[in-house]
Amino acid sequence: MVRRDRARLGSCGMTEPLVVLDHVDKWFGELHVLQDINMSIARGEVVVVIGPSGSGKSTLCRTINRLETIDKGTITLDGKPLPAEGKALAAHRAEVGMVFQSFNLFAHKTILENVTLGPIKVRGTDKAAAEKQARQLLDRVGVGNQADKYPAQLSGGQQQRVAIARALAMEPKVMLFDEPTSALDPEMIKEVLDVMVDLAQGGMTMVVVTHEMGFARTAADRVVFMADGQVVEENTPDEFFSNAQSGRAQDFLSKIL
Ligand code: ADP
Ligand code: MG
Repeated sequence: MVRRDRARLGSCGMTEPLVVLDHVDKWFGELHVLQDINMSIARGEVVVVIGPSGSGKSTLCRTINRLETIDKGTITLDGKPLPAEGKALAAHRAEVGMVFQSFNLFAHKTILENVTLGPIKVRGTDKAAAEKQARQLLDRVGVGNQADKYPAQLSGGQQQRVAIARALAMEPKVMLFDEPTSALDPEMIKEVLDVMVDLAQGGMTMVVVTHEMGFARTAADRVVFMADGQVVEENTPDEFFSNAQSGRAQDFLSKIL
């Protein structure tokens, strides 16, 4: 696995922000779950978000996909504020791919149908074109030969790769991954991470919540460390892992490394 060439991205002018969170606050009742979050994610950038359980990482992802609303501040995707509802919201969601810890495939649909459903229903793609694209994506994530099976017939690692293919089928501008390997048996983690590294190297803009520090070192442009609803520290992976500044990050790293 090879780290992506950041200089190359910069020299192609691909550094304009794609996702911007500006002074974002969110409460769950009394709980101030996101506290003045400011984050700018460049086109093609891979941001790994780490931090203790309960620090707001999932909520952060869910606000970008607008599965959660925010109480203060703004979030923009490609310069446009997130829509509140209706068709515009559906269009927004189509531009933000999301992969969860639990694969969330439709149990009663085949692998191929799982991948074609979104493009057919949301994008209006015709069935033949959607199937052609789905087969290419399934090949790309290494499960092309499973297209006619049902999710329960696949391993967890295979199902998660299908979930990635399903998200990619919508041709998203950014992909969010929320602990995509946490529910997998150890021997399946690598096959999913390899697909994610491949995506990162292909220039996909990605926000990845993960405890897989090998992935962070290999594929991330930036590590964001969150605790108690705040971004405590952010840096390149090299700097962050060798020279964490805050006591909380040092403490967290001492527990997981
Ligand atoms: P992380 O992903 O970092 O573990 P989460 O974003 O899931 O953190 O949760 C942050 C905090 O918000 C936790 O204390 C959690 O219990 C709380 N929380 C998450 N979702 C909800 C919800 N829908 N309603 C109330 N509290 C929530
Ligand atoms: Mg979480």
